Amino acid sequence: MKRWRLLTLSLLVGLVMATSTAVADGDLPTVSTPSVTILSGNGDDDQATTNDDSSQAVRAAKHRLYIPRRTATPTEDIRWPSRRIWIYMDTHDRAIQSAFKSAVSAWNRVGVVHLRWTKNEGRADIIARDGSLSSNSNSTTPGVGYTTSQLGSTSTQYNPDTHALINARSTLDPDQLDYASHHFRTEVAEHELGHALGLAHAPEYMHSVMIPRNVKTGIARLDRQTLRQLYNDEQ
Ligand SMILES: [Zn+2]
Repeated sequence: MKRWRLLTLSLLVGLVMATSTAVADGDLPTVSTPSVTILSGNGDDDQATTNDDSSQAVRAAKHRLYIPRRTATPTEDIRWPSRRIWIYMDTHDRAIQSAFKSAVSAWNRVGVVHLRWTKNEGRADIIARDGSLSSNSNSTTPGVGYTTSQLGSTSTQYNPDTHALINARSTLDPDQLDYASHHFRTEVAEHELGHALGLAHAPEYMHSVMIPRNVKTGIARLDRQTLRQLYNDEQ
């Protein structure tokens, strides 16, 4: 039976409680740790229809995907079976919509994957949504006065046998990004969609949109390189 795994990656940022600005500070005491949950499959994964418009879940089970051993920045050892990936906008927040749209265009400009917007949620591989991600966890650093807030979060479901992504859900928190610029919101969206494409966190010292805890740059040369390597079927 197919085993599906759920992977949740969160982008955390520490905000000093006394201020209300979304401080872009990568040197904070919070650490984003990927949590992996194993969902037990029940064999109920056969779709009723298998037409070409169906989500990639159907095609995902067909063959084991090639995953490169070494890439410019780390990957989660998972990817979409096809370079054409459907994405559905599940938010009415204009600022979040705008950030996701810009981020999709930015990833498409790399020339590797072709993210296409769909109005059909059932067809979507990736769901772009808004949601509240804040959690007060200032107890870990008593007296310091930090509270932990997440700017974005992405959960993915994939088949560990074929390394194929089945679906992904990227969430941006409008409250946490309220005071941010469109530019910064777009970088956070790029980071989350990077996870949705199979990219993992890059080391802090790298010039990459995938560094944890906070973003300092948009999609960089190393990120473009990793995406090319991950989706290169010619090897
Ligand atoms: Zn992340």
